[in-house]
Amino acid sequence: MYIGRFAPSPTGPIHFGSLVTAVASYLDAKHHDGIWKIRMEDLDQPRFVEGSDKAIINSLHQHGFHWDDEIIYQSHRIDIYQTYLSNLNQQGSTYFCECSRKEIADSAMTGIDGMIYPGTCRNKKLDANHHALRIIAKDTFITFEDKIQGSIHQNISKDFGDFILKRSDGIYAYQLAVVIDDALQNINTIIRGADLIDSTSRQIYLQKNLSFPSMNYGHIPIATLNQKKLSKENHSTPVNDANIKNNLIACLKFLGQDYELIEKENTLTNFWTTAIQLWDISLVPKIKTIEI
Ligand code: GLU
Repeated sequence: MYIGRFAPSPTGPIHFGSLVTAVASYLDAKHHDGIWKIRMEDLDQPRFVEGSDKAIINSLHQHGFHWDDEIIYQSHRIDIYQTYLSNLNQQGSTYFCECSRKEIADSAMTGIDGMIYPGTCRNKKLDANHHALRIIAKDTFITFEDKIQGSIHQNISKDFGDFILKRSDGIYAYQLAVVIDDALQNINTIIRGADLIDSTSRQIYLQKNLSFPSMNYGHIPIATLNQKKLSKENHSTPVNDANIKNNLIACLKFLGQDYELIEKENTLTNFWTTAIQLWDISLVPKIKTIEI
């Protein structure tokens, strides 16, 4: 059984870019008679905007999405992350790091997604004391077949280096939490924005280290405005809940779908039934960004 999900960060109301991700992940799951779950990724409490989780949920509801199970919040799952992190510590796969951003910037090479940490603290045997915790990136090749973007082949140590699992401010890193939650929620297919495609091989690496099953991935193009990703942080216009049908049609167009028949439906229920039937992931543009 297909089990998919949508995992917004509650840092503001839903904008066009996140609505597109919700639509794509929902249609792909439902087209395969699957389950679709919602998870609130609210670990980064300083970025959390009070009430935006409710606003996102309300907006999804207004747009006619039906999710399965209760919505889970990452901020309620700290003990779970710590348990898995302790397993990694016991395996000797991690170490504490005291380097500042500046020290890293001065000595590191740039990789696929930011700096490649040069391993300065690997053998220092530091204790927890406000230090970040990193996983040792072994010389491992990860290959996966993305349902949209095609084949991806990366080397964990050469392309990313030892990456952070827990930040020095005590916040569990996205890469760790997402892998644990996807596994414990029995997710098997992840459809999300292409801005996360370079996180995927690190997530697969963590899955292997934690003996979790692997997933299927599809990364849809992200919407950009003046070359910048639409995000809640750059105050992209929130979607207008009064224009439900227009919003959804705009998402289908963005995703390259044949929307003429769907557009003719006059109830939201029929709209979704037809959109689910006609969903064709092979029509989604195989590019990382689309300027809107
Ligand atoms: N919470 C992430 C975001 O809103 C998405 C994470 C994921 O889908 O893996 O960008």
